[in-house]
Amino acid sequence: ALTPDQLKALVRTVPDWPARGVQFRDITTLIADGDGLAATIAYLADRVDAADAQMVAGMEARGFIFGAAVAARLGLGFLPIRKPGKLPIETLGIDYALEYGADRLEIDPGAVTDGMRIALVDDLIATGGTACASAALLRKAGAMVETAHFVIDLPDLGGADRLRRDDIAVDALMA
Ligand code: IMP
Repeated sequence: ALTPDQLKALVRTVPDWPARGVQFRDITTLIADGDGLAATIAYLADRVDAADAQMVAGMEARGFIFGAAVAARLGLGFLPIRKPGKLPIETLGIDYALEYGADRLEIDPGAVTDGMRIALVDDLIATGGTACASAALLRKAGAMVETAHFVIDLPDLGGADRLRRDDIAVDALMA
């Protein structure tokens, strides 16, 4: 299997996107590589399995790619955390602040049973805003959220520390 360093080499860094000064970490090149995708899912699934999760939740849209593959590998269900207005049912939602403006995430509350241990999966953690809001939403629905799993952590942006302050253990394959 590929090592985390080899996987990191498959991630493309795009300068000045979506705004000047941002170094965007693009996983498109990682998931286009069959060995890279398989090894990434295997690493994440090991960590989710060790956390004894009963379900996997992933954030739209790249969290769907990794989260659903991890869930299927472990025989667990997958819960999509969606952008607003996408689910055809009455949703449970949470509004949260962005650097500029605000956003909202929604889930199907019927997918969560009380006390269920749900592991969060996404491609990348930056400020932690998305992951913190996701955890708060799942907790509002009755879930226990104790771990979050990322392909990439940008530690300088403080997201992992922010999650730990919400009692969520964080792991990532690469920084
Ligand atoms: P945060 O909420 O600031 O932690 O940002 C994380 C969310 O934004 C995740 O859902 C990521 O998919 C996305 N994101 C932020 N920066 C990047 C990046 O450099 N590459 C890919 N996704 C990013």
